[in-house]
Amino acid sequence: MSYATDEAGFLADICANPDDDTPRLVYADWLQERDREARAEFIRVQCGIARKVAAEPKGKDPMWITGFRIGLHGEESFLNLFLGRGQKCECVNCLQKRERELLDGFNSDKLDCFVREFPDFRLVGLTTTWYRGENPLGDVRRGFVEHAMVPADVWFDHAGGMLSRNPIREVKLTTKPTAANHSRMFRERFGLGAALPLDVEFADTNEEHLKLLKGWWPKVAFTLPPEPV
Ligand SMILES: [Zn+2]
Repeated sequence: MSYATDEAGFLADICANPDDDTPRLVYADWLQERDREARAEFIRVQCGIARKVAAEPKGKDPMWITGFRIGLHGEESFLNLFLGRGQKCECVNCLQKRERELLDGFNSDKLDCFVREFPDFRLVGLTTTWYRGENPLGDVRRGFVEHAMVPADVWFDHAGGMLSRNPIREVKLTTKPTAANHSRMFRERFGLGAALPLDVEFADTNEEHLKLLKGWWPKVAFTLPPEPV
């Protein structure tokens, strides 16, 4: 099997099991063996953050959580030092610091690396600040794009590729789809000769668009721009 076939297989497994960390971590090992260490570590670090955050006590205010995390860092650092374990601290704070370092690496001195590892973000013109929520065009969780914010045309043109590489759960369309977008999708799915159903040909309200979007991509939750009152 070729490199590309192998990789497509790993990505398909990840997309088919979006809640499971295992296929992501298996892919990370594969990347590591192929000198894509930063990408591999990024997946591990983000999976680690998600796992630790999920294990934190629920219903506490942000101040309490901050204190809790500082406490855990102190404990873990002390144990590492005291027991001479020489391990890196893997508390949420330290993992988040490493996450930012890796993303800065992708974004700055290794721009090629960023573009290679996150080809889909180029489509929506993502800049270096995207992951900090200052430019919320997309949201990378547990190493992959899970939420995207894109114009309808971009989504209709690239959804197939984006969904084959990323377990995308939510898409916020920044522009309203057009009946032409849906007609093209219909032709792609059912062939040029098929007669266009009326709901495809005359889709207009958000409700109508959402119903069609759900039909094209059943696993994705869509949000549309609000309708004029
Ligand atoms: Zn720490």
